Amino acid sequence: MRSWTWFLLRVMRLFLRWLRLCAWRGRSKPSKKLGEVWSYSRLLLRSLYFNSLTNSDVVLDSLFEPVYWLVDNLTRWFGVVFVCLVIVLTTSILIIVYSCLLPVVVSTYPMPWVVWHLCYGHWNLVMVIFHYYKATTTPPGYPPQTKCDTPSVSICKKCIVPKPPRTHHCSICNRCILKMDHHCPWLNNCVGHFNHRYFFSFCLFMTLGCVYCSISSREMFIDAYTAIENFRSVDEEPQGVVVTGVGLLVYSVLPPELVTGQSYYQTPPPPFTFKDKMFHKSVIYLWVLTSSVAIALGGLTLWHAVLITRGETSIERHINCKEAQRLKAKGKVFRNVHHFGRINNWKVLFGVEKRSHWLTRVLLPSGHAPYGDGLTWDWSPHRRDMVAI
Ligand SMILES: [Zn+2]
Ligand SMILES: [Zn+2]
Repeated sequence: MRSWTWFLLRVMRLFLRWLRLCAWRGRSKPSKKLGEVWSYSRLLLRSLYFNSLTNSDVVLDSLFEPVYWLVDNLTRWFGVVFVCLVIVLTTSILIIVYSCLLPVVVSTYPMPWVVWHLCYGHWNLVMVIFHYYKATTTPPGYPPQTKCDTPSVSICKKCIVPKPPRTHHCSICNRCILKMDHHCPWLNNCVGHFNHRYFFSFCLFMTLGCVYCSISSREMFIDAYTAIENFRSVDEEPQGVVVTGVGLLVYSVLPPELVTGQSYYQTPPPPFTFKDKMFHKSVIYLWVLTSSVAIALGGLTLWHAVLITRGETSIERHINCKEAQRLKAKGKVFRNVHHFGRINNWKVLFGVEKRSHWLTRVLLPSGHAPYGDGLTWDWSPHRRDMVAI
C-alpha cells in the first residue's frame, strides 16, 4: 500500500514539474491561469506529501477530485433537463388522455363508470402535480451552520460543521442534508427530512396514475396496434375486409379462401387519414410509456416503501447492512435506533397524528411540516401521540 502511495506522489510531482515548465514558457504571454493552477497543485502536493496521515485513499481521492467535480456538475446540469423531461412527458400524456381516451370513455361507457373515471383521474392528477411541485421546491433541510446545542455525531469534512444524526453531505448540492435519502435528478433536489414525504407520495401517485392509464387504454392500444400492423400487411399484399370498431378502423386480414361473396379485391380498404394515424400512434405511445413507467417507478416505490417500513433511508440501508455484518462477526445483533415500529414509521413519514390524518394528510394534498426538526431523533413508540391513533 505504501509503494502505491509513493508511486502516485512521484507521478504527481512529475506532473507539477511539467506544469511549472509550461508556466515559465508562457511567462512572456498572459498565462496567469496556468500559474494559478500550478501554485494550487504545488500546495496540494505539499499538503499531501508532508502530512503524516496521508495514505493511498487520500491520494486517490485527490487525484479523482476533478472527475468527481465533473460528475457532480453534469448531474446538476442534467437535473434541469430531467425536470423538463418529466414535465414534457407528463403533459404529452395528459393531452392524449384528454383528446383520445376521455372522449371514448364518455361516449361509450355507462354513466357510473364515466363518473368514476372523471373523479379518480382528476384526483390522481392533482396529487401527482401537487407532490411533484412540493418535492422539487421544498428544501430538504440543512443543519445549522453555526455552533448550537444540537447533538452531532461527527463533523462534515467539506462543510466543517457538526453533522446531526442521519445527516449526510450531498456533493451535488455541496452541503449537508438532514435525514438525507438520496439526490434525485428527476427532482433536481435532494430528498431529505422536509421533502421525503412529497417524494414518496409523488412516486406512489405517479405509479398509480400510470397503472390507471395503462389499464384504461389497453383495449384501445390493442385495436390501434392491430390496425397499424394490418394496414402494413395490406400494403404489402392487399387482402382483407374492413371492420369498424369503437371510433377506430381495424383490419382483419383473412386468407382468400375464407372470403366469400364479392371479390375482396373489389373492396380495397380505405386508406388511413392523417388524423387516424395520429390517433393510433398516440394511443400506442400512451400505453407503452405509461406501462414502462408503471413498472420502473413501481419497483422504485416498492423499494422505498420497504425502506420506510424498516425506518431506514437509502444511505442508511448501506450503512446499517455493513454495521450489522460487523456486529455479527463479534456475535452481536444490530438494532436500528430509528426504527419505531412498522406502522409508526409510516406515521412519522406522513405526519399522521390522528386517524383522520390518513385522509386529510395522505389521500389529499397537504403541506404540513413533518415530525420534528430533523436534528434530533428521540421518538419513542410509547409516546402519547404515536399510540393515540
Ligand atoms: Zn457537508
Ligand atoms: Zn443533493
